[in-house]
Amino acid sequence: MKVIVIGAGWAGCAAGISAKKAGAEVEIFEKTDMVLGLGNVGGIMRNNGRFTATEELIALGGGDLFNITDNNSRHKNINFPGHEHAWLYDVNKIEPKVKSYLESLNIKVNLIKRVIDVRKTKNKIEGIYLSDGTFVGGDVFVETTGSTGPMGNCLRYGNGCSMCILRCPSFGPRVSISSRAGVDDLQGEREDGSLGAFSGSCKLAKDSLSEEIVNELNCKGVVVLKIPTEDINLDKLKLKVCQQYALKEFAENVVLLDTGHAKLMTTFYPLEKLRKIKGLENAKFIDPYAGGKGNSIRYLSVAPRTDDMKVKGIDNLFCAGEKGGLFVGHTEAICTGSLAGHNAVRYSHCMPMLILPREIAIGDIITYANYMMLSNEGRKKRYTFAGAIYFERMKKEGLYTTDVDAIKNKINKLKLSDILNKKLA
Ligand SMILES: Cc1cc2nc3c(=O)[nH]c(=O)nc-3n(C[C@H](O)[C@H](O)[C@H](O)COP(=O)(O)OP(=O)(O)OC[C@H]3O[C@@H](n4cnc5c(N)ncnc54)[C@H](O)[C@@H]3O)c2cc1C
Repeated sequence: MKVIVIGAGWAGCAAGISAKKAGAEVEIFEKTDMVLGLGNVGGIMRNNGRFTATEELIALGGGDLFNITDNNSRHKNINFPGHEHAWLYDVNKIEPKVKSYLESLNIKVNLIKRVIDVRKTKNKIEGIYLSDGTFVGGDVFVETTGSTGPMGNCLRYGNGCSMCILRCPSFGPRVSISSRAGVDDLQGEREDGSLGAFSGSCKLAKDSLSEEIVNELNCKGVVVLKIPTEDINLDKLKLKVCQQYALKEFAENVVLLDTGHAKLMTTFYPLEKLRKIKGLENAKFIDPYAGGKGNSIRYLSVAPRTDDMKVKGIDNLFCAGEKGGLFVGHTEAICTGSLAGHNAVRYSHCMPMLILPREIAIGDIITYANYMMLSNEGRKKRYTFAGAIYFERMKKEGLYTTDVDAIKNKINKLKLSDILNKKLA
């Protein structure tokens, strides 16, 4: 029984691992030359409700990738405006670690292999076509192609190609596989009803910053610098994907985090204005390269799905990460990916699907984001354990805790301990 995963971001890697642990042969196809997708430029873990979700997934038996991010953290338990107990993994070290872990599990990772179409009989996919014409057959498919780009979307809904980590001009555009299979994509909206949203952070080369800032970053993990009054732009917060950072503090200050590079917590920032700030006189963008002008456009490609992460209308296609909802974050991608990969194997054994209960944050966000997708208002929101509307909900519903034993006990009481670690018959 073979599970094919399309897209090797955090969601695809997690899906591959859980499908493998459940007993499948797994092949992953990724269009670029690296696994992790946007995970190569992020780094923030365990902030706010993500701590709870991380520990829930560990108790469910799906903690493999969190072990890697935890072990490659540059800073643990740091606070920055609106965010507590964040861990920051090193974006320059994480990718090879994840790739070798996948390979150690005998998961076949195919890089520079872009999937462009599917072959289907009735509602069942038989296999995928790669851009070089190759056909690869499989039994169950998990689509984790994300929602970033392609370039046309960044041109139409953004400020042009920002030259982001996905490098569409070289590796080819993202393809919505569910759409190729005949299922229309849903789209996220901005407050004014326009489509998509700008990615919410950039990276500056640390070597281009003052010694004082670099020392503080290395030591504390975070540096907050005041923006000159004439350059404060509160409206820019509305453009952001990451509504958890759409706080006044992020408009009035430059917030830098140490993820190996200096992560600048804003969508884009004109270089000339940035260089007015003390210590940033020589600042240089290295992700996206055009971070002085724009950022990548996301959330134009969400597959309609059920709460087991199966795509509606196709029998053997599952989805996760940004493809599976208006989710923001590595943790969100890993949690949904783990469930999608596991259920792909259940499907092929004709077993009942695993739907995580709403008593835990992971189960709740999966159902809640799906329900919210039905309304216009809901499509203007993004869903993350780290803040905005969903973290508020977590607190209100009593789902947020940093008590690891309480999380383990809850999962145990629900008879779900280690469920993602077990091989299915
Ligand atoms: C600049 C930036 C900073 C961020 N910082 C953070 C952070 O600090 N913390 C956090 O939690 N989240 C952060 N995020 C958000 C987070 O990175 C994403 O929400 C999450 O990683 C999405 O994972 P994914 O697997 O769903 O999608 P992606 O990471 O987009 O992965 C999709 C993969 O599919 C591949 N693909 C697409 N089409 C095809 C095809 N046809 N064939 C084969 N492969 C294909 C792509 O190349 C890509 O590798 C950040 C995002 C950005 C852009």
